[in-house]
Amino acid sequence: MLEAPYPELDDLLKMMGEAGRHLAEIEASEGAAGNISVCLRSRKDTGTVWHMEPRTRFPLISEIELPQPVPELAGATFIVSGSGRRLREIIDEPAANLACIVVDEGGKTGKLYTSYQRRFERVTSEFNSHLAVHYDQMMATGTNFHAVVHAQPLHITYLSHIPRYQDEQYLNTHLLRWQPETIINLPEGIGFIPFEVPGSSALMAGNVAALRKHRIVIWSKHGVMARSDISIKRAADRVEYAETAAKYEYLNLGVNEIGTGLSRDEILAICKTFSIKQNIF
Ligand SMILES: [Zn+2]
Repeated sequence: MLEAPYPELDDLLKMMGEAGRHLAEIEASEGAAGNISVCLRSRKDTGTVWHMEPRTRFPLISEIELPQPVPELAGATFIVSGSGRRLREIIDEPAANLACIVVDEGGKTGKLYTSYQRRFERVTSEFNSHLAVHYDQMMATGTNFHAVVHAQPLHITYLSHIPRYQDEQYLNTHLLRWQPETIINLPEGIGFIPFEVPGSSALMAGNVAALRKHRIVIWSKHGVMARSDISIKRAADRVEYAETAAKYEYLNLGVNEIGTGLSRDEILAICKTFSIKQNIF
């Protein structure tokens, strides 16, 4: 949930660009892999009005059907990456790589706002998952802002190919043991969903369920999706925390697991000091 003064359109575009560039820097977005979106809305019931005019950057308007009806989000604005676009290039030309969608009354269709520089035909093929997760979180928490990112960090994706890391308890007790910050930043641990075809409704349903319980979820043999109701950069940070944890784990596998990581008692002491509620250790 954001408090006024709210970020302007250009501020959001810049933050999406910075998040995209950083995901590329940490090797989580090769080629055109990964996609990014934010959703913002007014909350008339609580008197919070957040108006944004997409036409200043995205003057072309067309009508699209939304992947699922989102009636309660009528009037909400999404900013989302275009299909086949590179996350690392958003920062140079945000309007060429991103689109705005404003949800119509009834929630079945939206106005798609794009720029004359637009370099894509459609928004990302994972928009069904982005929309469903935004919708679920906004309904559950009442937030006026929500950010989602999908990226493909090398080490965490590699570990998702190893059967024993496909067990959530094993995964979390092994990944969250390497740095004190990890349990603080990901107290619900990392979610895990089995392999599903990219863009499928099964992947979408898996994301909604896993991101209800976790701030980040691994898509087995593919990548991760992370969320935040503070900023898109915070969502990208969650990808980086999980990937760093996976890097330690990968290093340890390469030396016959001679590292022990933080002990359960050490992690419990950290949680006590920082008042972290968790049920992994
Ligand atoms: Zn992907």
